[in-house]
Amino acid sequence: MTDPQITWLDPDTVQLRQPKSSHWEAPFLFLLFGRERSLLLDSGATSDEKVFPLRAAVEALTAEWLRRNPAVYTRPYPLVVAHTHAHGDHIAGDALFAGRRATTIVGTSPAEVIGFFGFRRWPDETVPFLLGRRVVDVIGGPGHEPSAVAFFDRQTGIMFTGDTVLPARLYVRDLGQYRATIDRLIRFRDGAPTPVRELRGAHIEMSTVPGHDYPAGTVDQPDEAPLPLPPRILEKVRDALAGLRGEPGERVARKRFIVVVDR
Ligand SMILES: [Zn+2]
Repeated sequence: MTDPQITWLDPDTVQLRQPKSSHWEAPFLFLLFGRERSLLLDSGATSDEKVFPLRAAVEALTAEWLRRNPAVYTRPYPLVVAHTHAHGDHIAGDALFAGRRATTIVGTSPAEVIGFFGFRRWPDETVPFLLGRRVVDVIGGPGHEPSAVAFFDRQTGIMFTGDTVLPARLYVRDLGQYRATIDRLIRFRDGAPTPVRELRGAHIEMSTVPGHDYPAGTVDQPDEAPLPLPPRILEKVRDALAGLRGEPGERVARKRFIVVVDR
């Protein structure tokens, strides 16, 4: 049993990392609390609570937050489980929340994501999602995966970018859509309702040595790059795409990420 590595990013926002010892992908998950409900972004790479006790962690964190926020009296306090995208290492833990009271698990197909958040012009649109005195903007983001979205939390200024922008290999499945998504994120950032302070994706694969990554499957990463990326990283990603033709195997290394065209 390996408990998640928990970091409170502010009094209402938790970062959870699935330990490398439970799965080499070691994805990052985020739990955001609002006055009316909470939002879990991704559910990890494991559906076995004995391997990675995500459900127990969410229950404990929620109980702790509710104790600190006695003005929130809704019981049961609702939870929405949503995803940055539909790859298995981000949705496997959904099963742990099946049957939980007042819990909505957002489906993982593009149609289900579009329907749940209420997109009318997918993907070229941003829709607000309300947690109660807290607004998260959901931004269409296909390219790594067809149902991918980014979430911008107006309270912390963090843009949660899943596997789209992160200190890791950026696996591009559809180059046209991915380019459009990076341009969309830049436009959103430049007109954001509150300033975008940083980006947090879902994995770390880069080391602190610029341009050097840990290969897939690595469990021991003693010199990991930090997770947060500055907002200006988006231009660096856009520029790295410039010469690509979309052929599988194309690869462009930059200091803090490596673009890989992948089919
Ligand atoms: Zn992915």
